This record gives sequence, C-alpha cells and structure tokens, in this order.
Amino acid sequence: MKIVFATGNVGKLKEAAEILGEGFELVTPASAGIVEEIPETGNTLRANSLQKAQYLFDKTGMDCFADDTGLEVDILGGAPGVQTARYAGEAKDPSANIDRLLREMARREIEASDIRSLGIDTPHATRRARFRTSITLILGGERHFFDGTMEGRIALDRSGKGGFGYDPVFIPDGYDVTAAELSPGEKNAISHRGKALRAMAEYLKNRT
Ligand code: IMP
Repeated sequence: MKIVFATGNVGKLKEAAEILGEGFELVTPASAGIVEEIPETGNTLRANSLQKAQYLFDKTGMDCFADDTGLEVDILGGAPGVQTARYAGEAKDPSANIDRLLREMARREIEASDIRSLGIDTPHATRRARFRTSITLILGGERHFFDGTMEGRIALDRSGKGGFGYDPVFIPDGYDVTAAELSPGEKNAISHRGKALRAMAEYLKNRT
C-alpha cells in the first residue's frame, strides 16, 4: 500500500517506514509531484496536521498522512505549542529556540518569586513539560487522528549530543538524563512521534 507522508525529513521517513513495516511504501510529497511548501497556518497541532494532510489529498488524491509536533511547558501556559519550531524566529534555529525557552522560563520563575515576596500565594515554579504529536491520516478521503505524548521536564542547562531540536534540555519521565543522551532506539521507544506512529500503524494493520 502506497502512502504519502508530508515530510522531506529523511530521519522521520525512516522512523515511519520502520514502524509501519512491510506492506507499506512511503512516498514523499516531492515524488508525488508536490514541489511547493505545504501550508501550515493552524492554531493547534491537530489543525496543522489536518491542513497538511488535506492539502496532499486534494492535490494527489492519494492516501496520505501528516504530523505536527509541539512542546508544551506548564510554567509558560502551554507555550511554545504550535510555535515550537519558530519560537525564536522564522530561521527555526534549534539553539536559539532553546535559548529563548530557558530565558522565558527564568523570567516566569523570577516573576513568581517576586509575587510571593509580596505575601501573595502563587504556585511554585514547575519545569514540567511534554511533547505532543498529532497525526492526521486520510484514507480513501476519510480522516483519522492519532496522538502521542512524551512527558518530562525542562533541564536548567543543555546536556548530550544526540537527538535534535529541544532534546538537549528535555528530560523524559523515568530518566535523569536528557533525550539527547539517550540512544535513538531508547528515544523512539518513548517518543511522542513514535507513539502516534505506532497507533496509526496499529490502525492500518488491523483495519478490515
Ligand atoms: P515538527 O512538527 O516535527 O517539525 O517539530 C516541531 C518542533 O518541535 C521543531 O522545532 C522540532 O525541533 C521540535 N521537536 C519535534 N520532535 C522533537 C523531539 O523528539 N525532540 C526535540 N525536539 C523535537
């Protein structure tokens, strides 16, 4: 079965192909004739994954899926959320994104302690956070949604050389090292994207 996956990222393609296994051939948008950038203007992860999958389906008529991922940080009220990739600007620079994240969290912590010093009760700072992935699969024109989360906390500083994006400051629950210090196998087994992809794979394999 041929499915278009809305990504040009080789690592993501490889991960999805491994999880889907035999019987599924993943095709990139470019090889299905989509050369332009796929629009992504939604206010939620689901709206974005739906927008990308629907765009592919409308243009190609082929079965397809798209994913969108965001980091939700509790002390930032759920930010950066849908802005995760562009948190420090359009350049989508991972290191600048981490710098902004640590800066914003430090600012909120100072604000909270200033408020407490005035005698006003306010919750203590939390570094709790999670990655969330939304996948939209369009099969014969019908939409199906799959989600995956990875809970954890944001470290005070970077550590580790592996992974990508925010991994050097994200400590998954159950570990005391960052995701950038895990092997790719360990990370994929617990990651938000891995969970959403496995839920989709399960659905595809079990459907009658
Ligand atoms: P995308 O939707 O996969 O493009 O990801 C959106 C943003 O989240 C980008 O800034 C990615 O670097 C970041 N991101 C997605 N997944 C991960 C992850 O597993 N670890 C760290 N950062 C991630």
